[in-house]
Amino acid sequence: MILIVFGAPGSGKGTQSERLARHFGLHHISTGDLLRAHIKNGTLLGRTAHGFISAGHLIPDQLMLKILAEELRTPAAAGGVILDGFPRTIPQAEELDTLLAREHKRIDAVVGLEVPDDELEKRLIERGKSSGRSDDNPEAIAERLRVYHSQTKPLISYYQKQGHYIPVNGTGPIEDIFADICLNVKEHCK
Ligand code: AMP
Repeated sequence: MILIVFGAPGSGKGTQSERLARHFGLHHISTGDLLRAHIKNGTLLGRTAHGFISAGHLIPDQLMLKILAEELRTPAAAGGVILDGFPRTIPQAEELDTLLAREHKRIDAVVGLEVPDDELEKRLIERGKSSGRSDDNPEAIAERLRVYHSQTKPLISYYQKQGHYIPVNGTGPIEDIFADICLNVKEHCK
């Protein structure tokens, strides 16, 4: 099973992906977490990524694709994956399709967590008080939301055309959203 959890920054992708990974027995790939691990470990990649992330910008597609392709080749990924935070641009989505087709695999569903912008902003500011993330400050948050609308949101129609997009209301109690996702994914994958 290949599941994409899609949404704006602060929409709850990480929280829901963790639960879904446990529920469906899938390997959770968060590109944001992978990049932050590189930064923490001071790798060359981490040093390159740091500037982009702190400014609220996306890291270049080719770099991101290289990291993702490597992650998909690990034994842990063989039984199915949840992609959290990837793809974020049309070229990333196209390249993912190519990559999967080469291995005779395909995306099963794209869960879109839908949350209004003012709520996203509130959540991210709140998270910034304890997350320690270099991009959870007002300037970077504003830029991340701008980037989401211009570069990432077009993926909704990309996946709608493929028949994979499942919109889910991302506001309300975490447990309710999770139950809603599970129900929809099971229905979609029948
Ligand atoms: P996240 O933890 O998913 O919010 O990601 C944090 C930051 O990592 C993003 O704001 C980007 O700078 C970078 N990042 C994560 N995933 C991607 C991606 N698929 N493409 C480009 N940059 C990414």
